[in-house]
Amino acid sequence: MENAWKKYSDTTKVMEFNEGYKNFISTCKTERESVAKAIEIAEQHGFRNINDYISAKKRLNPNDKVYYNNMGKSLALFIIGSDPIENGMTILGAHVDSPRLDLKQHPFYEDHEIALLDTHYYGGIKSYQWVTLPLALHGVVCKKDGTTVKVVIGEDENDPVVGISDLLPHLARHQMERKASDVVEGEDLNVTIGSMPLNGVEKEAVKANVLALLKEKYAIEEDDFVSAEIEVVPAGKARDYGLDRSMVMGYGQDDRVCAYTSLMAMFEVENPQKTLACLLVDKEEIGSVGATGMHSKFFENIVAELIWLKEGFNDIKLRRTFTNSKMLSSDVSAAYDPNYPSVNEMKNTCFFGKGIVINKYTGARGKSGSNDASAEYLAEVRKAFDNNNIAWQTAELGKVNEGGGGTIAYIMGNYGMNVVDSGVAVQNMHAPWEVTSKVDVYEAKEAYVAFLKEM
Ligand code: MN
Ligand code: MN
Repeated sequence: MENAWKKYSDTTKVMEFNEGYKNFISTCKTERESVAKAIEIAEQHGFRNINDYISAKKRLNPNDKVYYNNMGKSLALFIIGSDPIENGMTILGAHVDSPRLDLKQHPFYEDHEIALLDTHYYGGIKSYQWVTLPLALHGVVCKKDGTTVKVVIGEDENDPVVGISDLLPHLARHQMERKASDVVEGEDLNVTIGSMPLNGVEKEAVKANVLALLKEKYAIEEDDFVSAEIEVVPAGKARDYGLDRSMVMGYGQDDRVCAYTSLMAMFEVENPQKTLACLLVDKEEIGSVGATGMHSKFFENIVAELIWLKEGFNDIKLRRTFTNSKMLSSDVSAAYDPNYPSVNEMKNTCFFGKGIVINKYTGARGKSGSNDASAEYLAEVRKAFDNNNIAWQTAELGKVNEGGGGTIAYIMGNYGMNVVDSGVAVQNMHAPWEVTSKVDVYEAKEAYVAFLKEM
């Protein structure tokens, strides 16, 4: 397996594609921001809101391009095929939620004239990685009058940032003796937001001052945070990583790297025979639960609408559509890390620069929780990749019994559909700053185009 960089004597298109990717992950740090930006880009490529068709009972025709926005947190895009939909769809899927710290519903408090925000972490994090970093606040505050206030603080270079403090080494004797999982307790991930009292206020004057600033800028009150979703994320843009600029360091590449590449692949296909779909879903990091996760019926419901609008609905068509569909469930893989080689079994490990990763199975221990794609389907997928000169590799997540993980693949597998995990290799997965290889990012996009065209 050759290094994929060797395919490109001229790296211009790889580098240019990654400029777009860095821009996407620099501005889209929440599921909501990712869905909003994906819709903006999709509309520029001729996609229209499916609700316009549904409300007007407007017929869907081959090569129509539509999207369904599920609560602003997950998104399904479709290019209608010339075949009946029940012949099956060709589906790309990725997730747009990432590990982070969410503000609690009553987040504000003051301790010895320092104002702080209480958080509850989301997804699998190593708490100790999230201290002493510049952090930003991204999210929405929904008011009783029905308006929603969007908040982004800490990204503009003139913005202040916030952060979580840590003990100085001089006083950390007891802290350093704790297990790594307890070095920073989950309940201690408190974000410092102020230290200056508001004149004329007696009680909690520092907190009052911060709340006054928020009220002035956003017209929001402390009580409004009960109906808010504010995510604390690393502040700052994605950057070129490595002296040769061959990699990207950025927040939330799990799984926006697969989301962005899947989305961009959709714009490179016209007049498909099968209906093409791209799913960008929420809540993968906490088990794909809830109304916006893959376990939700939203995708099935919207495919029912598509069948109704294109061919007239009946239930058997819907069931056949899912059974006959083929999917790449795309999520990141753990890239080989020279600092920690012992967790890998080297024949079944993925590496930077070797292209998109296929995982026949994920899961933990005895493949527990895994979709385990069928060998016949894997043969089809590798044929499609090889026919298009895609650099690809296979891997599993570490040595047997070293750990494990899951994706959305098994949920789609429940329909009796052929689905296999694939995605981009990432170093520092779930850390505030994750790393990918630019050539792998590009190969992933190329692989998704090949899959849409060949399956
Ligand atoms: Mn993931
Ligand atoms: Mn993850």
